[in-house]
Amino acid sequence: MNSKLYAIFAKQQQKSKELKTSNPQQRIQKIQKLKTIVEEKSESIEKAIWKDFRKSPQEVQLTELVPFFMESNDFIRHLPRWMNPKTVSSPIPLIGSTSEIHYEPYGNVLILSPWNYPFQLAMVPLVGAIGSGNTVILKPSEFAPNTSEVLKEIIELAFSEDEVALIQGDAEVASELLELPFHHIFFTGSTRVGKIIMEKAAKHLARVTLELGGKSPVILGNKVSFKYCAEKIAWGKFLNAGQTCIAPDYILMNSNDQETFVSYLKEFINKFYATQTIQESPDYCRIINQKHFSRLMHFIENAIQKGAKLEFGGKGDEKENYLEPTVLTHVPKDALIMQEEIFGPILPIIDSQSIEEAIEFITLGEKPLALYLFSNVKSEIQKVLQNTSSGGVVVNDVLLHFINHNLPFGGINHSGLGSYHGFHSFENFSHKKAVLQQGMFSPMRFVYPPYTEVVEKFSEFLKNFLI
Ligand code: NAD
Repeated sequence: MNSKLYAIFAKQQQKSKELKTSNPQQRIQKIQKLKTIVEEKSESIEKAIWKDFRKSPQEVQLTELVPFFMESNDFIRHLPRWMNPKTVSSPIPLIGSTSEIHYEPYGNVLILSPWNYPFQLAMVPLVGAIGSGNTVILKPSEFAPNTSEVLKEIIELAFSEDEVALIQGDAEVASELLELPFHHIFFTGSTRVGKIIMEKAAKHLARVTLELGGKSPVILGNKVSFKYCAEKIAWGKFLNAGQTCIAPDYILMNSNDQETFVSYLKEFINKFYATQTIQESPDYCRIINQKHFSRLMHFIENAIQKGAKLEFGGKGDEKENYLEPTVLTHVPKDALIMQEEIFGPILPIIDSQSIEEAIEFITLGEKPLALYLFSNVKSEIQKVLQNTSSGGVVVNDVLLHFINHNLPFGGINHSGLGSYHGFHSFENFSHKKAVLQQGMFSPMRFVYPPYTEVVEKFSEFLKNFLI
């Protein structure tokens, strides 16, 4: 075991005893301090993410800083109420007693975060973990090194190492961390690595939250405004150059409507990014690294080889990992691009003649993280909701369930386990302890031995009336 990591962990184990009794005000003060430091460092954050993959400062504000501030404000506003024990009713045999749910911190939490939203996917879970009274070791992704440096500065200014420590490093460092007996592991990343995390967590029976990826489909109904859909899909797909876990991965729609829909898509891509050339646009970011760039180029070549039609884009500039927003139609279902999460700015459109056919196709694959449906027909919406399973669903828009902190955000099976945001984060990082306090009189005395006829009658009563 890595002795440096173990030393930090041991200090955090000690600290968690003190944090266990922390009150809402103490936790809120920590979140407030963190907010102030992030505010002061916001320019450094923007610059770091620009250096990592050329994401515009405005997009950093919208997609990295706003979610962090929203989560912090939610905790600051509601933590005192969330932390209150919740009284629950008691059944008849427990007359005289009180039953409550107490929220207690798990203790020691590990957060492993990815590179694609390198600030918010580290900091939003952190707010939840410390707001719930835990210590944290946070390991951000090695593929966004500039952001990781700023994160380290922020954490060191806001916390002592025995409460929150940031450890930089790659998969090997993550593996070493996973040897430690954390109480809870919060992982955001790929499904492949999610399986490794769960296996390693089993050694210490650590709880896990897995925020994973997958192919999030879009179903386009027949009677929708294609212009309306194209604007929303072009925004949701090419934001962050498609490197978003809940980005629309592919579209299922009637082949007769594709020409009209694609013409609107092109219009909006140009409107969003082609004020100069798209490559020069300050609002369109880069692919994170060479490996992912080559993987995406291979997807395009393979789909075209298999008969897909290139409608827009398709070219890249390897020197700066720039890949044009790309639209493909008539993509065969066995093309490579349909076998795994795309995680890049390529939008395949798949022929699907009906809602039923779309549902059948989606349910053949793993359960997606998000599912998007564009339809104004109530029965179609009901059919899709009832016959598919996914982490979340948005009807007539994309991505937006992520920003409603009253909704749990998370996947299901291959797209994840557990959820967070707002109160769901507080619940995710807290153990719900059942506390029953007996009163002076307890009817349960009637069930003690010796087992007379009274006990039998009492059992009969419990069977029929106890709920
Ligand atoms: P990744 O799984 O490669 O890495 C995520 C984290 O795990 C990093 O910190 C990395 O260092 C660590 N890691 C990598 N290999 C490891 C190993 N063998 N053992 C232990 N730790 C290891 O993911 P990524 O490429 O950084 O991110 C992209 C993926 O994340 C996509 O699949 C995307 O859909 C998913 N994602 C999901 C969400 C969500 O909220 N559900 C959000 C963003 C990204």
